[in-house]
Amino acid sequence: MRALARAITGLELPAVEKISEEQAEDPFQILIATILSARTQDATTHAASTRLFKAARTPQTLAKLPVTRIERLIYPVSFYRYKARYVKACCEMLVSRFGGKVPSTMEELLTLPGVGRKTANLVLILGFKSLRNICVDTHVHRISNRLGWVKTTLPDETEQALYRATDTRWWPYINLYLVTWGQNVCRPVYPRCGDCVIRDECPRIGVSRSNS
Ligand code: SF4
Repeated sequence: MRALARAITGLELPAVEKISEEQAEDPFQILIATILSARTQDATTHAASTRLFKAARTPQTLAKLPVTRIERLIYPVSFYRYKARYVKACCEMLVSRFGGKVPSTMEELLTLPGVGRKTANLVLILGFKSLRNICVDTHVHRISNRLGWVKTTLPDETEQALYRATDTRWWPYINLYLVTWGQNVCRPVYPRCGDCVIRDECPRIGVSRSNS
């Protein structure tokens, strides 16, 4: 993890981290950007979030936008029609049940439309500075299996396995480090093992062909 921390310095931040930095770690914008980010390229997520927050940047104002307007603002994120509905429903629930504020517990976050454990964990880590959560997306799932830290088939299993396999102090950083590494070096196909700073520690489990 220390080697990765050094290696990612200067690399482009993942979209939600970038929005978090730009928007003073506002839990609401982190929540909405994370919903938009599922199965979507970072540049597309960032551009769509920026357009959306220019039109409305609070749960109250966003809840009032028609779904069709949200669709137009977030297009071309993947599944933009579903996500527009989730975003509106999520904002409506934030207003009606949580006083217009993003709740700060996993249990409450999971009651929001469109919010699963990945989104909830990222909101807790970036928006509420939690040191007790690990956010697992496809990069974290893939790389922690390649490294042999876990042996799992589903991201939710990976999250629980990582709590057991890793030191607590690294939990809030695992997502940032592995997502950045996954986008730049440990890619899904043809990982760049020859350029990897942790290649000497990595058993490359499941990697059949690499760019080394
Ligand atoms: S050595 Fe290859 S498989 Fe292992 S972390 Fe680095 S890029 Fe990924």
